[in-house]
Amino acid sequence: MDRAAQMFPELTPAQVDRIASIGHRRDVRAGELLFDAGEQNTRFFVVLAGAIEVVRPIGDREEPATVLHPGQFTGEINLLSARLSLVRARAALDGAVIAVDREDLRTLVQRDSELSEILMRAFILRRVAFMSQDAQDMVLLGSRHSGSTQHIREFLSRNGQPFAYQDVERDPSVQALLDRFHIGVGDVPVIVCRGGHVLKNPTIETLSAVLGLSAQLDADEVREVVIVGAGPAGLAAAVYGASEGLDVLVLESTAPGGQAGTSSRIENYLGFPTGISGQALSGRALTQAEKFGAEIAIGRTVVRLDCDSRPYRLVLSDGQELRTRTIIIATGARYRKLDLASLTRFEGAGVYYSATHLERQFCGGEEVAVVGGANSAGQAAVFLAETAKRVHMLVRGPSLAASMSRYLIQRIEHTPNIFLRARTHVEALEGEKGLERLRWRNLDTGERETRDVRNLFLMMGADPNTAWLEGCVDLDDKKFIKTGTDLLPEDLAAARWPVVRRPYLMETSIPGVFCIGDARAASVKRVASAVGEGSICIQLVHRVLQEL
Ligand SMILES: Cc1cc2nc3c(=O)[nH]c(=O)nc-3n(C[C@H](O)[C@H](O)[C@H](O)COP(=O)(O)OP(=O)(O)OC[C@H]3O[C@@H](n4cnc5c(N)ncnc54)[C@H](O)[C@@H]3O)c2cc1C
Repeated sequence: MDRAAQMFPELTPAQVDRIASIGHRRDVRAGELLFDAGEQNTRFFVVLAGAIEVVRPIGDREEPATVLHPGQFTGEINLLSARLSLVRARAALDGAVIAVDREDLRTLVQRDSELSEILMRAFILRRVAFMSQDAQDMVLLGSRHSGSTQHIREFLSRNGQPFAYQDVERDPSVQALLDRFHIGVGDVPVIVCRGGHVLKNPTIETLSAVLGLSAQLDADEVREVVIVGAGPAGLAAAVYGASEGLDVLVLESTAPGGQAGTSSRIENYLGFPTGISGQALSGRALTQAEKFGAEIAIGRTVVRLDCDSRPYRLVLSDGQELRTRTIIIATGARYRKLDLASLTRFEGAGVYYSATHLERQFCGGEEVAVVGGANSAGQAAVFLAETAKRVHMLVRGPSLAASMSRYLIQRIEHTPNIFLRARTHVEALEGEKGLERLRWRNLDTGERETRDVRNLFLMMGADPNTAWLEGCVDLDDKKFIKTGTDLLPEDLAAARWPVVRRPYLMETSIPGVFCIGDARAASVKRVASAVGEGSICIQLVHRVLQEL
């Protein structure tokens, strides 16, 4: 089947009948609006007779997207989450449709595997097509020298939100536009939403709420399990938990996928022999979790766990509190940084912690540098070398042998524009508006070198995101969370472990609070192990819920 047929398949009469059994038939008149762009919780429609016209409103005009004929259906991944619709749909002719509520559609895709496959594939391909168009749903006005601009660009693209980007530095007319609306330099980045709503330098929380990435959370509800973090570990736990009937809420501060979502290509994850980008993997996992009914709230950061209260209380950055009987901590880790005072000035303005297609756009034909000697650094170097003039790999150790997989070392050795500089330390970052030059020093010879490097990728490992748990769960000396048999009798005594049994695998020093993935002490820092831990942990959550 070609891609167009997969995006707009025609259902068989038997498949249409199965949908009809959960929806209701409705006659429509030519021109009748079925749903509009910007609406939330839209319904799902299957054409029975006539046709549905789907358009993308752009300012005062409409751009045709498609016309759906009998047997075809509306919708993309917004139907499974609470995201806003990107399109307007209306009857093109007098005819009839089946209308299905979002919740009923979710139930259908969980129990009907044939329809689930057809609908999921079409929804994902339609969202991908939106992303690749020069979308005008949202315009981001920013500067490549502003860290917040880079932060918001990354947030939008990692959350699959189509947007057009205009750079103040490159296009003087953008500055003129900002001046006309009295928008000062301090207000950049500025987002112009559909309908003309303007957000000046918005926080991630505000942006998430405007985009419908996080629904209103009910503070009175006591949940069975709240998962904190939507990296591979958290998403896997959400898929297994929701598919096994648990009521699951996932809270994620930035974007689904975590560190893996920033990887340009993951080649060692089982089942993807040609590799898969972190973003594609996270997008699929998110859709899968939502299909099973997990609630996923993006742009929501947990700042505190009240471990003395029962049920447990989680406090979010906006002050909201949530109550839950069990918790899965899947907050992973964050990148390690260079110890240079000037670093923050260049973050997002020449210094990056991930190498995806977004960052690679800045590097075409340029010299770039990658710091680090582990697999993530190797992947970034190989990926960037495809378009950069030269990639300098700066490594503190004498070689890559002790820290990198053999296959990547070989690939680096066979890439002529990657230059490995062992025993090398970055000494200075220089530039006016953004990074312009880099100085490094050989630790053995003391020799210094300065190069015109405007893009520096820091891939030096990570520290756990566990500061919000200090004083509550037992951490090791590097602040990773101790679980299961890593908790010695004296640790449990100090934590006043209150039950007779010992902690289960992946259970922390507080009963019913689990930790999985990179944040867990002694975990294997890999996508597959994070996913595996997510699935195992759900079995233990069931056990604890029965004990309570
Ligand atoms: C560039 C790069 C490339 C990689 N390539 C590979 C590879 O090829 N193969 C491989 O096996 N592994 C790879 N890894 C490692 C792999 O990505 C990690 O081991 C994996 O992502 C860990 O998953 P996790 O879910 O435990 O944590 P993370 O992926 O770190 O996810 C944690 C999530 O929690 C969120 N969070 C943190 N604190 C809070 C809070 N207080 N409230 C709400 N949310 C919070 C974060 O925003 C994040 O989304 C790579 C890592 C990087 C950085």
